[in-house]
Amino acid sequence: MTTPRVHTSELRGTALANEIRARAASAATELTAAGTPPQLAVVVATDDGSSAWYVRSIARAAAKTGIQCTLVELGPKATAEQIRTSLTALSADPEVHGIILQTPLPDGVAFDDLAAAIDPAKDVDGANPLSLGRLTANLPAFAPATAAAVLALLDRHEIELAGRHAVVVGRSTVVGKPTAQLLLQRDATVSICHRHTKDLAEITRRADVLISAAGRIGLITAAHVAPEAVIIDVGTNPTDDGGLVGDVDTASVQGRVAGVTPVPGGVGPVTTALLLQHTVQAARRR
Ligand code: NAD
Repeated sequence: MTTPRVHTSELRGTALANEIRARAASAATELTAAGTPPQLAVVVATDDGSSAWYVRSIARAAAKTGIQCTLVELGPKATAEQIRTSLTALSADPEVHGIILQTPLPDGVAFDDLAAAIDPAKDVDGANPLSLGRLTANLPAFAPATAAAVLALLDRHEIELAGRHAVVVGRSTVVGKPTAQLLLQRDATVSICHRHTKDLAEITRRADVLISAAGRIGLITAAHVAPEAVIIDVGTNPTDDGGLVGDVDTASVQGRVAGVTPVPGGVGPVTTALLLQHTVQAARRR
């Protein structure tokens, strides 16, 4: 495979997301006919607006795919114990196949600790620390959907990874680390940058494949990229006018790189589609 020289708009995720959803829908139809209607449960303990928007978009996509999506609304004052009790009950419920713990969580409630209460077999967003551990050990596990979406986009656009330098900006447990792990599994040479990295541009300029997952508007500019680099923009940053932009200053890098994913319309739709795919996979394994 070679790196194609492509225009910005060609690294879109919408067509790929449609295909993944169509496959998940036909699996959901089969499962339902066989008496196992797939069900995804989303535990929500926040009144954050962008989180509510995200949850609604998952519920809409699930409904269109023939997957039942159950929202478990615990409210922004929920305690860690209430959230854990809910996750434990859903893990034991044979009719629930996938479980997502939505963020943000109430102040003082730690995500990783609670996510450990999600049955790994139902952990469709790879939130349980066991899932990341298994991923790191090359054992079967659900990868966080966003990290899986990055790899799915790279594969879709036939971007070679073996032996190439991939730079991941961001080291969160939910996005940066698992993305780096998946790239490593594919034989890329991986560098991970974060907020303490000195001279970010000096490192990102050496990337064949640059993944930005920092959540900082305009972080990646022309000064941060090599010619022919492929950029996957994971960042989703709300703007004052109600829009959404990524981390990459697209106007600045356009024409200098091989390709960059748009925001919105890049990683986001693929992430949602993969959550649904993981849910039908979990239902099939029962
Ligand atoms: P996070 O805040 O937990 O982590 C951000 C990471 O970026 C940290 O590791 C931090 O060290 C690093 N960082 C911050 N500023 C930096 C800088 N100036 N230079 C270098 N590194 C810097 O966020 P997260 O949950 O990992 O999410 C990252 C972004 O991805 C956010 O914009 C989030 O909204 C988005 N996101 C998108 C999807 C999707 O499906 N598209 C899914 C999840 C998260």
